[in-house]
Amino acid sequence: MTPLSKSTYLMGLQCPKLLWHRYHAKELLQQPGTLAQAIFDQGHEVGAWAKRLFPAGSEIAPGVTDFDLVCAETQRQLLTRQPLFEPGFRAGGGYARIDILNPVDDDAWDLIEVKSSTRVKDVYLADVAFQAYVCTAAGLTIRRCYVLHINSSYVRQGDVDPQVLFTQVDVTRKVVALSAQIADKVDAFARVVGAAEHPAVNIGPHCNSPYACPLTYRCWAFLPEHHVMTLSRGTKKGFQLLAQGISAITDLPETARLSRVQSIQKRAVVTNEPQIDAKQIKAFLGRLHYPLHYLDFETMGSAVPFFDGSRPFEQIPFQFSLHLVRHPGAEPEHRSFLAEGREDPRPRLMAALVQAIEPTGSIIAYNAPFEWGVLTGCANELPQHAVWVKSLQPRIIDLLEPFRKVHCYHPDQHGSASIKAVLPAFTGKDYSQLAIGEGGTASLEFVRVTFTEVSAQERAKVRRQLEEYCQLDTLAMVWLVEKLQELAD
Ligand code: SF4
Repeated sequence: MTPLSKSTYLMGLQCPKLLWHRYHAKELLQQPGTLAQAIFDQGHEVGAWAKRLFPAGSEIAPGVTDFDLVCAETQRQLLTRQPLFEPGFRAGGGYARIDILNPVDDDAWDLIEVKSSTRVKDVYLADVAFQAYVCTAAGLTIRRCYVLHINSSYVRQGDVDPQVLFTQVDVTRKVVALSAQIADKVDAFARVVGAAEHPAVNIGPHCNSPYACPLTYRCWAFLPEHHVMTLSRGTKKGFQLLAQGISAITDLPETARLSRVQSIQKRAVVTNEPQIDAKQIKAFLGRLHYPLHYLDFETMGSAVPFFDGSRPFEQIPFQFSLHLVRHPGAEPEHRSFLAEGREDPRPRLMAALVQAIEPTGSIIAYNAPFEWGVLTGCANELPQHAVWVKSLQPRIIDLLEPFRKVHCYHPDQHGSASIKAVLPAFTGKDYSQLAIGEGGTASLEFVRVTFTEVSAQERAKVRRQLEEYCQLDTLAMVWLVEKLQELAD
């Protein structure tokens, strides 16, 4: 059998059924989407910065995927006693390429795993433990194991400083605690892979932890449309119900203990009717003051900050859309901004926003803490806007509130209060006609056409798509408030 790699070992830990499919029916595994691919690419960029911490290091067999060639080259380079990037070992039933091996003492090595997150997650420990196991089985003495992750308090000023960008955490003790079981697990996984049929595994919390399983679309397909896993904040309860053989919300017994929100959800599904609390909706609408400003930002963030004064993963706005409704029934006026060029977009964006927002009237956002966080982040970086931003706070209204508090709930929301679920359920309109249909893609596409070399035509096309997407986000809010006004009557 092909030895287990780091990723297949982790698959085995997550679910033996997934592991079996990886070897026997790989084509059934859903391919990672563009967002997952972007996270992967970001890992490469972070890895490149980490290598700068070891200027004497050498890269082993870059671009080579043949195990034998990589292992042979590794054995040659081990003799140099220099830091090694991506050395590969095959032993103990496993195969692993190590991010960084650093020589210590006379003949030992420190193993360093580079991660583009800002903390050590449990799954990293299992990953590092497997690598240390393979190295040890290959005859290496591993002195200590480290996770090198992004330092969340790093603030970029000028050139990136990898000494401050990273935090190195010694995980040796935790890795040693895990290492005793690895050989048994490798044997058990080899038996799974060697079996003619995949093992029977029920769906459970492991389907989404530590990673979203690429077979969910198949394993979960038996569930009816309104299944118990769509109960709001009901993941644990949903799995308990499934274990009792109850999969449909309509089959929930009277005795089932449900939260207020879940009870409303059940009523909506059983009656197939939206559940409306007109009094609460009226109270919410009573807090809105014209002119109504519907505001949405699109942002970008990265492990290695793009701009001076920003931190890893800080969300930097590059676009806003604002619809202004001056009085009930008035045509919405549209104002927008989309950054051009590669410099920090915040100064121009804030200057445009100051022009776009009128001195009075509510500012409506969907999940408003996000928009408020973006505004305060800009105010910190651009103190000339701090007083103005502070003055906006009492005017901000969160349109998510009536949906999250279930003042109105439509069965087609399937337990979600996201605008992508609420809009089609209540208005019949959706984002499906757009080339860019959600914020993560908007961010990736903006970065792609702004910071990489693409044709002027491609850049213009994507910028048009970005305008369409962000504009729909605020127009969707206009439609939803109109719908709420109708429901409250
Ligand atoms: S969806 Fe769940 S049960 Fe199915 S293979 Fe993935 S983790 Fe296993």
